[in-house]
Amino acid sequence: MSGRLTGKRALLTATGQGIGRATALAMLREGAEVFATDINEEALASLAEEAGGGLTTYLLNVRDDESVREGVARANPDILFNCAGFVHDGTILQATDADWDFAFDLNVRAQFRTIRAALPGMLERGAGSIVNIASVASSIVGVPNRFIYGTSKAAVIGLTKSVARDFVKNGIRCNAICPGTVYSPSLQDRLRATGDYETALEAFKARQPMGRIGTPEEIAALAVHLASDESAYTTGQAFAVDGGWTA
Ligand code: NAD
Repeated sequence: MSGRLTGKRALLTATGQGIGRATALAMLREGAEVFATDINEEALASLAEEAGGGLTTYLLNVRDDESVREGVARANPDILFNCAGFVHDGTILQATDADWDFAFDLNVRAQFRTIRAALPGMLERGAGSIVNIASVASSIVGVPNRFIYGTSKAAVIGLTKSVARDFVKNGIRCNAICPGTVYSPSLQDRLRATGDYETALEAFKARQPMGRIGTPEEIAALAVHLASDESAYTTGQAFAVDGGWTA
C-alpha cells in the first residue's frame, strides 16, 4: 500500500516516547522506511513491539557526535526528524552554566550535529526534508520559568531558517514545528514535580484557549506533511501547533 512517504527513508531522534514515538509510528503508516532512535533501549523495544515490526530501531545519542555520524550513515535519510529536547525549569536567576550548556547541547547543538551528518547524502540526491522540533516557548512567546528552554528553542528556529536559506536551491527543505503543551511522559513528570498534579494540569490546560492539552499524534500529523512532497513549496518556516495559545 502506498502512502505519502513511500520510498523515503526517515531518521528520527528521541522516538522512545511522546512526540518522537508518535511521529515514528505516523511515518511508518505513511509508508516510510523508518529508522527510530533514542538513548533508551527499553523504550525502543516497546516502540518496535507497538509497531509490530516494520521499523528499524537503534541507539543514537544526539549529544555524541560519533553516535550521530554512525546513526545517520546507517539510515542515509531523505527525512530527518530532530526531536530530542529537554525542559529546564526556572528564570535566569535559577539557571546555572551547567544547565545552560546541557540544554543547548541537547536542544540545539544536537540538531547541528544531525543535520551536518545528513546533509551530504541529501545534497547528493538533490532532495531532503528536515523537520526540527522547537516550541512556542521560543522567539514566539515568552513563557514564565522557561529562560533556558525558550532561549534554546528560539535558536532552533534560527537554525532552521538558516539551513533552509542556505540549501533552498539544492532541493533541501528545513522547517520547524513549535508545539504548545503536549501530553507526553515528560510533561507528566513536570506536572508531578509540582507536587500538585491536578492543579498543575488545570493550569497547563488553561494556557490553551481550546482548554485542553494537545496529543503527540497532532504534532506527528504536521511532521508527516512537512516530511512529504505535498509540502514541497514550504521551507524555512516555524509552525505553531498550540490549541490557539499564540493565536
Ligand atoms: P519526552 O521529553 O517525553 O521524551 C524525550 C525522549 O528523548 C525520551 O525518549 C528520551 O530517552 C530521549 N532522549 C533524551 N536524551 C536523548 C539523547 N541525548 N539522544 C537521543 N534521545 C534522547 O518527549 P516530548 O515531551 O514529546 O518532547 C519531544 C520534543 O518536543 C522535545 O524537543 C520538546 O522540547 C518538544 N516539545 C514538547 C512539548 C510538550 O509539551 N511535551 C511542547 C513543546 C515542545
